Amino acid sequence: MPPSTPPILPSILGVTHHQFVAACAERGIGSGRAMAAYRAFYLEGDASGVPEGFEGWIPPIVRRLEEEVSEGTTIKFCQRLDRQTGTPLSNRAADGVALGVLNNDGRVRHLDIESVIIPMIGRTGRKTHTLCVSSQVGCAMGCGFCETAQMGLIRSLTPAEIAAQWWAARWIEGVEIDNIVFMGMGEPLDNTDAVLQAIGCLTDHHGPRVAMSCVTISTVGRVDGLRRLSEQIQTPGWKRLGIALSVNAPNDSVRDRLMPVNRRWDMGELQSVMQRIVEVRGARKILFEYVLIPGVNDSMDHAGQLADWMAPFGKRDGKAPVGLLNVIPYNPRRDSPWPAPDENDVAAFVARMNELGVYTKRRRTKGRTAMAACGQLGTAEIRGRRFIGSPGTEPAGAKNGSDD
Ligand code: SAH
Repeated sequence: MPPSTPPILPSILGVTHHQFVAACAERGIGSGRAMAAYRAFYLEGDASGVPEGFEGWIPPIVRRLEEEVSEGTTIKFCQRLDRQTGTPLSNRAADGVALGVLNNDGRVRHLDIESVIIPMIGRTGRKTHTLCVSSQVGCAMGCGFCETAQMGLIRSLTPAEIAAQWWAARWIEGVEIDNIVFMGMGEPLDNTDAVLQAIGCLTDHHGPRVAMSCVTISTVGRVDGLRRLSEQIQTPGWKRLGIALSVNAPNDSVRDRLMPVNRRWDMGELQSVMQRIVEVRGARKILFEYVLIPGVNDSMDHAGQLADWMAPFGKRDGKAPVGLLNVIPYNPRRDSPWPAPDENDVAAFVARMNELGVYTKRRRTKGRTAMAACGQLGTAEIRGRRFIGSPGTEPAGAKNGSDD
């Protein structure tokens, strides 16, 4: 243990207005002043009223990339979490900040997170924006097709750091955010407490005001975390939380190979816990994601096996299906062993699934050239930590992109 651990500041970021008012009250700040500060911070982007001693620091945007798509502009931005880069690691450990990226001299280099703003056209033709947020720096899940997995887990984000991504999108990038998806870096159910706390903030009526039905947690399929979600959605205000499951495989042998998590909880267990979620959630749609990888999971046989697995989520008793299958054409990660699928093969797979009675859509690819697309988040710089050489000799091209 370090000799003295500085106290963790109470925060305006990542808390509900109730929590903030309570923390202020403990410090003798009245609820009127507290509410004014909270509302100004979230609704006007004005941090001047944040009381002294409260955390309200927004990690700066250190890189951004834009890519034009037909709906508008996809923006990927990276925030740097460490306030003083180059601080010796031993000191950083003392203040509770987990490992960062090391230079050769043992100093922390950077701890960067990535978020993507994705323009969409809604069903009614209205333009909307979806913010894809990260829940961790890196990821421990080790999925073979995902760029982020190649970094390993550096650390989980705090609720403040998750909420700060919304704040940066809204008040630095100036974009009104309609939807939030936890589909950036990391596995949200590997950091469940922080993610749920952050969602409490993001949906606060006096704060970011994102509707619960417009927030989606996407998971690799940690069954323990999904059980926890099935309980959370039974608490008032949480029923409409969106849930997406990355299935990505038609059977256990393919899934075991692609996603190590499947060796812990197989597709049978996954199917049962998802059925339990449907029971408590009712008719709300559940998204099933399927990254289509040429030669790995894209045959017509695979389509048949997937349709069987999806059957409990299909049309029943004349009622609309609860499961929506979202086919994501594989976006090659750096050093990928597989190419992107052929457009015709994607169309054939989607058509086959629909024929088999599974309600299926193709996810449009956005941001692939900017490495902002699904599964492409992860900085070359962070991967550079594995390289031996002086700073600046890591692989070039921290190009990074998103799909809707
Ligand atoms: N850990 C969470 C959220 C992050 S990934 C999860 O697994 O759901 C968000 C989505 O992108 C997941 O469905 C994932 O399977 C998909 N994905 C990952 N790598 C991809 C890649 N290289 N190409 C296309 N989609 C990818």
